[in-house]
Amino acid sequence: MVTQKFCPQCGSRKVKWIDPNMSFWQCQKCGYRGSGVIEDGDLDKKVKEAKKMEKLQKKLLRGR
Ligand SMILES: [Zn+2]
Repeated sequence: MVTQKFCPQCGSRKVKWIDPNMSFWQCQKCGYRGSGVIEDGDLDKKVKEAKKMEKLQKKLLRGR
């Protein structure tokens, strides 16, 4: 599975891996530079997790 990288600052997919020795990325849209980019797979997982938590919280609130 190919994962798409996202800029954590602006959400653009135009992030480029600029340093092959380190995990260092640059966003071509907003100029963000850093080691942290969001991977598509991760994002999907996080969204799913957040939805799960939301459901759980609603369940707990209803149980009161
Ligand atoms: Zn950006």
